Amino acid sequence: MLSLGALATGCTNPAKEGTAIASQVIGDKNMGLQIYTLGHELYTGDLSTNLKRIADMGIKNLELAGYDPADRKIGGIERAVFKKMAEEVGLKIVSSHVNPPTVFSGAAGRENRTGRDGYYSGDMKNDIVESFKQIADDHAELGIEYLIQPMMPKEGINNTNDVKIFCDTLNATGEEIKKHGVTFGYHNHNMEFCKVSENSDARFMGDILTRPYVEGEQIIDIMMRETNPDLVIFEMDTYWTIMGQNDPVAMLTTYTDRIKLLHIKDFVVLGESGALNFSNIFNKFFENGNKYYFIEIEDIDSGKQFERLEKSATWLAQQDYVK
Ligand code: MG
Repeated sequence: MLSLGALATGCTNPAKEGTAIASQVIGDKNMGLQIYTLGHELYTGDLSTNLKRIADMGIKNLELAGYDPADRKIGGIERAVFKKMAEEVGLKIVSSHVNPPTVFSGAAGRENRTGRDGYYSGDMKNDIVESFKQIADDHAELGIEYLIQPMMPKEGINNTNDVKIFCDTLNATGEEIKKHGVTFGYHNHNMEFCKVSENSDARFMGDILTRPYVEGEQIIDIMMRETNPDLVIFEMDTYWTIMGQNDPVAMLTTYTDRIKLLHIKDFVVLGESGALNFSNIFNKFFENGNKYYFIEIEDIDSGKQFERLEKSATWLAQQDYVK
């Protein structure tokens, strides 16, 4: 273990900072990483070495991205091999992001089977639930606790009823996944904070800033009401929540027992923008009885992802309020 005192060099008030972090060492926090953060860098060179590099930052938990239902591998790596490599360096795979087929319908190589052309319908509900059986089996083998759907259907959630149809599919998915001993959840971006009404018909464009203004209720609030708490939990992305013009702390206060996981995300490196009050976010998150959070950084083709992650993990490890 490395004392954080060594990492405090360059701070403006060494005495004060040193006192605050003297008792902390890398590795005493339950830090997690959404591996999407590293993009291709994770698989460049030797995966084992790269996983060790992550563990050396004090990160203990992983949330996967890149499981492909077609080959059932993670980023092209056999699941068992990935798990073994992670465990060998002390990393625990806790969660995984997998989208159902409908999210990609209409994309290259996939048939558009959405019922109403370009709009979401419940027509694929049974197919989605069916497809998640294999996905859930594969992830149960990994010993993970959470399987998370990271995106809304791209086909368009235009009105209150569309949201209810979507939630009906989420509930059915959660019910199936629960049979495999895994908890199903949903991860937000900013589009879930768009408003819809019974009669709104503005095609969902995926961006709260470009969507026509609708007098109504936020999609996320309807989702919280229409999904079954026993079948669907929520993973809140802090960055996307503020991009949806909402306060992460208010969300954690309103939905005390629905938000179980966090994506800790800033504009780029954690703590640099000052736009997010991570102290209040973490305090409320832990007060609610939760323990798993995952660092996430976008711009995955930057070529600087390991560097940014190292800075982010170091900063997070130095914060007193982070457990
Ligand atoms: Mg995220």
